[in-house]
Formats: sequence, structure tokens, C-alpha cells
Amino acid sequence: MKEILLIKDGEIALKGLNRSTFEETLIRNLRRRLEDLGGFVFQKAQSTIYATPRTDDVDFEKAIERVKCVFGISAFSRAAVLEKDMDDILSKAPEYLKETLLNVKTFKVEAKRSDKRFALKSPEICAELGGKLLETFPHLRVDVHNPDVVVMVEIRDFGAYVHAGKIKGAGGMPVGSSGQATLLISGGIDSPVAGYVMAKRGLVLDAVHFESPPYTSPRARAKVEKLTKLISKYCGRIYLHVVPFTEIQEEIKNKCPEDLFTIIMRRIMVMIAQRIAEKTGSQALVTGESLAQVASQTLGAIACTDNAASMPILRPLIGMDKSEIIEISRKIDTFETSILPYEDCCTVFTPRHPKTKPSIDEVKKAEEALDVEALVEKAIKETEKVRILPEY
Ligand code: ATP
Ligand code: MG
Repeated sequence: MKEILLIKDGEIALKGLNRSTFEETLIRNLRRRLEDLGGFVFQKAQSTIYATPRTDDVDFEKAIERVKCVFGISAFSRAAVLEKDMDDILSKAPEYLKETLLNVKTFKVEAKRSDKRFALKSPEICAELGGKLLETFPHLRVDVHNPDVVVMVEIRDFGAYVHAGKIKGAGGMPVGSSGQATLLISGGIDSPVAGYVMAKRGLVLDAVHFESPPYTSPRARAKVEKLTKLISKYCGRIYLHVVPFTEIQEEIKNKCPEDLFTIIMRRIMVMIAQRIAEKTGSQALVTGESLAQVASQTLGAIACTDNAASMPILRPLIGMDKSEIIEISRKIDTFETSILPYEDCCTVFTPRHPKTKPSIDEVKKAEEALDVEALVEKAIKETEKVRILPEY
């Protein structure tokens, strides 16, 4: 029996005039995500995207797992494609739904008739198919209020579709519909979550990671690549720029007051990230900062970091508790990797008493001891670019 995925736009539906651009972006993302499974042909009509497999042997289970991670979708269904003919529906639907219905006790049928030329009205379609299913599966009962399964019949322009209910989509906006931003990704819990949250609002992500060998190990680097891979399941492919940071950290340590180490380091991180962002076409930076989580995340420290950039710095976790952030990291499967105990460059030279209320003047004065421009230039020149693809 021929099958299809019926995919419902999420918030896109609210966007009026831009709608078709949003849908094209969504279809492009879906096409990329499903390409190596044999590929699908996409059509759109009646606020639905129809994804028809190119060949008969497409692995639907795999396709479904992937579609679940594509932003811009509120819900989707795996459906049988039938003739727009009630006899065809009555003869084939029971067989198609058999496996599902043998495992439940109650059901109801809902019908949607968007092709008004179809002879039967929705209540009649429900009654006929409901009767047929009760006859075929005598263990079933109808429960209109709280059924185990909702069987849907959709009579649409391209055909009739029968399925056993909706699968929840990832929500959000299609990646690419809001432009591009550069994520500062560490090996911690927060920044991968921040990337996921912003990609969900439609941003393509580019990523920057600072490493300080030999203080940070190859395993710390591998961990960051792994985290980037895990979020790329949602965000699509990501270019990870790995910036050598050892010399800069040593310079700050040797030439600046100890209590300003962290803030100066963060300012230089932001300066470098912004240069990379400008070169790669990003319009904003993204970090995993959360207010008051640590000494470098006070309002005063944030003001000092913002002052080092001219681009907006998006901090989607700013108002979240750690427990809320952890909940998301478990959901997107980054938590277990994030808690592996490899050192991050940020913890290498952590001062004993960081200033929580640094003034911008004081920080800028301290930075004069460094040749910031030369250090930034050199680090960017030695940056390595790694292409990270999702892994299923
Ligand atoms: P995370 O869990 O994301 O590491 P954190 O709570 O440990 O965050 P900080 O170490 O203060 O907080 O880092 C704040 C933010 O700065 C991070 O969320 C990340 O966006 C960025 N950042 C920190 N270290 C690095 C790094 N080595 N490379 C790139 N960005 C970093
Ligand atoms: Mg960290």
C-alpha cells in the first residue's frame, strides 16, 4: 500500500504574506534531512506539505524520527494513500490500521473532507468506516471522548488519506527563516541548549569554540564536536570554528589584574566570535549565559561583555533556572555528554576572587596592557574550521 507523510506547518501558518517563503525553507530542510533515505517528493496544498517517497523501500520509521526534529512543524501523520472512493477506503483501511488497532481497546473515527465534491459528508464517512472497523475487529469499542486511537480519514485534492493519528512535531520556525547567528559553544550544559533554543526560532547556526591546549585535552575538543553533532540533528549542519586560545589566556594572566581575568577573557572571546560571525554572514552571537549563575554572569559583567561587541548578543537562557536548562538538555540528549568531566578553557585559569561588579573603564584600562588587536588577528588566522553533520 502506498504511504505518505502529511506534514502540518507550525507557526508558519500565522505569518501571512511570508508564508510561502517559510514553507519553501521548511521543504528545503526536510529534503536535506531525508535525502539519504532515498528521498521524498514534496507538494504543498491546504496548509499541508505532502511528502511522497520516491521509491517503495523508504524506511518510514527512520524518516519519522528525523521529521520529529525538524523545526517549523506542529504535527504530522504517516498515512495510507487511497482512492477517493468509499469502497476503496472501506476495503483497504482495516488492513492498513490492523497493527495499531489490535493493540488498543477503544477508537473513534474523524473525517475531514476538504474536497467538497466527495459524495459522502464527514459524519457519513465516520459512520461507515467506524462500522467497518467494529465488524473487522470485534474487540474494539468506540469512545468519542477519550479514545486510545483516533482514526483520521482526510479527503483532499490529491487523494484520500487514512491514518491512526498525529505525531507531535518539534514546533518553532524553520531553520534559516530568521537568518544566521554564531553560537559560542563550550563543553558545558548551557551553550548547546542555547543553540537549540535559537535554532528553534529559525536561526541557522555557525559555532565558535575556544580551546587552550595543552591545558585542555583532545577529549575536551572531541566532546564539543560531539555536542555540536547532537544539536545538528535539530539545527542542520554546523561549521564549528575552533580558536586557539592558550596564548591569549596566558597573556591576560601575566599582564592583567587577576580579579579581571574572566571578564577580559570573555570580552576577547566575544571580539573574536564577532569577527568570525561577520566573515561568515551571521547577524548575532548566541551564548548560554544565565543571570547570576556564576560571577561572570552578573549584570555588570554582562554590560562589560556587551561593550566588546557591536552585534546583538542573544542569551536565550538568561532567565532560566539550571533545572529548566537541564530538562531541555535531557530532552535533546546533550546532558550525558555535557557532564563528562573534561576541562574547559574557562576553568583553566579561574581567578580566586573574580570581580562581580567590574566597571567598563577599569576593564578597558587593564586591557591596555595587551596588544588585543594582534592577539585577536593571530587567533583568527590559526582558527580551524570543522564541518559537523547530524548523525542518526
Ligand atoms: P556552559 O554550560 O555553556 O559552558 P557555563 O554555565 O559554564 O556555560 P561560562 O563558562 O561562564 O558558563 O560560559 C558562559 C558562556 O560563554 C557559555 O554558555 C558559552 O556560550 C560561552 N563559552 C564559555 N566557554 C567557551 C568556550 N570554551 N568556547 C566557546 N564559548 C564558550
Ligand atoms: Mg562552561
